[in-house]
Amino acid sequence: MTTKTIKKRVRKICSCCGKEINVILYSDKNYRGGHYFGKVPVYDENSYKKATVKVEKKTGWRIVSGLKIKEKIEYWEWPRCYRGK
Ligand SMILES: [Zn+2]
Repeated sequence: MTTKTIKKRVRKICSCCGKEINVILYSDKNYRGGHYFGKVPVYDENSYKKATVKVEKKTGWRIVSGLKIKEKIEYWEWPRCYRGK
């Protein structure tokens, strides 16, 4: 058995509902308390107006191109939102 030590406790905000999550980071790079999905892009609102939208006939998906990425944010969800999907 490996021993886990708590490295840090951090506060994250659930990207789904805004709830504050207490995340515990361990020295072995594991974490608990929330689910981390990686960094997601936030698009520049003005670029939406100029963006091109194509609707795929087969799937009905709207494919948007020409967007400008403003910044990237960490995407977290707390366990209840994660399970609710
Ligand atoms: Zn949530």
